[in-house]
Amino acid sequence: MKNRLLKEATHKIYEQRKHLDINEKVYCRHERVDGGEFVEIWFMTGGCNHDKDGGCTMCNYGKGHMVDENEILYLIEKELIKLTPPLKQLVISPTGSMFDDTEVSPDFRNKIFGLVEKYNCEKFITETRADTITKDKLRRMKDIIQDKVIAVELGLESSSEFVLKNCVNKNMMPEEFIRAVNVIKEEGILVTANVSLGVPFLDEKRQLEDAKKTVRWALDIGVNTVVVFPLHIKPGTLLSYLYKENLYDCVSLWSLVEILKDVDETERSKVQISWYKNYYNNEGKIIKSPTTCELCRPKVIDLLDRYKDECNTVVVKELGRLECGCKKDYFHRMQVLETKDTKNHLLNCYTIIAKDFNIDHEILNEAIKEL
Ligand code: SF4
Ligand SMILES: [Zn+2]
Repeated sequence: MKNRLLKEATHKIYEQRKHLDINEKVYCRHERVDGGEFVEIWFMTGGCNHDKDGGCTMCNYGKGHMVDENEILYLIEKELIKLTPPLKQLVISPTGSMFDDTEVSPDFRNKIFGLVEKYNCEKFITETRADTITKDKLRRMKDIIQDKVIAVELGLESSSEFVLKNCVNKNMMPEEFIRAVNVIKEEGILVTANVSLGVPFLDEKRQLEDAKKTVRWALDIGVNTVVVFPLHIKPGTLLSYLYKENLYDCVSLWSLVEILKDVDETERSKVQISWYKNYYNNEGKIIKSPTTCELCRPKVIDLLDRYKDECNTVVVKELGRLECGCKKDYFHRMQVLETKDTKNHLLNCYTIIAKDFNIDHEILNEAIKEL
């Protein structure tokens, strides 16, 4: 499952990437989701281990610092005290994976769960990579958090082996994801699949098809919810390099609307959306975001906000009825788009990447042979 070429390029980018600001160890974000108050508390760790090793092509979740666990606990508690309970949903997540013991030690993790247990919220959510899931870790969490609905979010990105390996560098096969989903469900915990819209190296049509297929696949294997994330271009990622080389651009938010239109009424509440807009206050965190044109953007974002809050078909129909020149252009573009030969396109991109990142011919040839 390893893609040595993408791994080496993303690793070189990681080495150059700026560390997160050591003064921002905990960050809290509020939103309306699913008819209630949603709060996400992110805390700093050393970062995702897969990222450190040469990780996902679109990700810069953060190159963190090893920080004092007691200080983080104190800061999380301080954020919780500021909130007005009860909350509908509380998310607490590290810079990578909650259940990776080398990133969040078991003792530290259990203390965080202890804070959650004391707090008045309906549902607790945390994020982790599929390969970090074990029955024992989940049982320990359930022993501590006893009176709340618990959900675990897993990054799936795509259900296609080809895309995971050659475009995302996820270092995960769909089977690993299915295993994690089954273990989580056996423990009576809810599971969410995070799906990417706008995977690099695919043309716009294939990006949409891949995301649609992935949503369907995730629902079919039995996840409780799917969250679709249109990708932003973040500095310190292979995606930002591809963008600078004119080999990538952000998806249109009309593609996100197409995904929502594709969902059956009966499964509507299971398909959610996130990060269709930039939530950061800090300008340097994102280079470019998925969008529509300036004229319709406020209305589109307003409706997507409403969808995020209500997950209902009325909003999707309103989005479908919205008229704008950029929407016509989008459909025209999708219609006339000559679907590129993905393998050929990858071959060209890989060759450019190998040259620019000074990657061995042997590694380039190996990556091309795998296509
Ligand atoms: S997307 Fe998730 S698994 Fe991939 S590098 Fe980022 S944090 Fe790690
Ligand atoms: Zn428009």
